[in-house]
Amino acid sequence: MKTLELAKKLIEFKTINNNNREFKNIYKFIKTYIHKINKNLYIEAFESNKYESVLITPIKDKRKFELLLAGHIDVVPAPDKLFKPKIKAGKLIGRGAADMKSAVAIMLNSFKNNDNQSLLLTSDEEIGGANGVKYIIEKQNLSSKCVFLPDGKPNWKIVLEEKGFYHCKFEAFGKSSHGARPWLGKNAADLCINFYQDLKSIFNKSYPISECEDDGNNSISLGKIDGGEATNQVPKNAEILVDFRFNSKVGKEGMEKFIQKVLDKHPSIKLKTSSFGETMKVNKTSKYIKRLENILKEEKIDYGFQKEAGASDARHFPKDTDVVMLLPTGGNTHEDNEWIDIKEFDKFEKVVNQYIKTFCA
Ligand SMILES: [Zn+2]
Repeated sequence: MKTLELAKKLIEFKTINNNNREFKNIYKFIKTYIHKINKNLYIEAFESNKYESVLITPIKDKRKFELLLAGHIDVVPAPDKLFKPKIKAGKLIGRGAADMKSAVAIMLNSFKNNDNQSLLLTSDEEIGGANGVKYIIEKQNLSSKCVFLPDGKPNWKIVLEEKGFYHCKFEAFGKSSHGARPWLGKNAADLCINFYQDLKSIFNKSYPISECEDDGNNSISLGKIDGGEATNQVPKNAEILVDFRFNSKVGKEGMEKFIQKVLDKHPSIKLKTSSFGETMKVNKTSKYIKRLENILKEEKIDYGFQKEAGASDARHFPKDTDVVMLLPTGGNTHEDNEWIDIKEFDKFEKVVNQYIKTFCA
């Protein structure tokens, strides 16, 4: 199958979270397809909490690689029409066109010409990757010196950094009273508001704050505030959800220290739950980045570098892995009319295949 046709075919599977049948269908399709390309490839399936991942590799039971291609086949929800891919004005339009089924199609078809590579496909990137990449790295002992992960921001930007995140739920403990007599109670919603204002003001004084996608600075955002039952009642409990994003200079420990420092000033507030995502950083001087740059220069592609505000599965790979992330021209990721430029997509396929060839079998 031509790569563009394959990309369209992959987009048709409605692989959104919990749509288990579609994940089964797409993997069935991929397995049959790969064996048509090359009967000698091994396909290993892994499962964690119903999330399936697949490793396509020329050597059975291989777990240590120099080059591992990686991608996710899940997509974020979309109206039905986005699962019927269209070609319009030189663009392939559909859910997953940019993020990242076109790239998956390129990586699958790369086995037509190469067998220096292995490919890991997972199905839970959009919901955090805990049962996909994280599980495979931690529980299946898979490792690679270089991971080629064509995810992230399109437009030929090699990703050098992704921020880490800290998602926190803070709870306030107050005392309820009648809304007409607030002096008899202790308003938990007020406690939350005061706490957040303090949190934000200290955060803004402590760190350089992000003002655009790729300045590599830090950010804080109040995601949800919840509390109270009725207008005329002082709430006893309230909670807020806060999204912190931080660079590798701050790190997890820096974030934890910061949060504790502010909590110490607010004894009525407790950190109830939190989840954490590591930062990702790859050195510009890495030989795996240089190799890719050489190919991009040869192909006269106007490429650049990028620091990303968001996170991806790249964060689950160990710190000494060089994760190489690049995508060609495309847009509207996670939005309506997600697209990828078809000409650039062809160029990208050439780049990917050349890149694979620079690795020994
Ligand atoms: Zn993605």
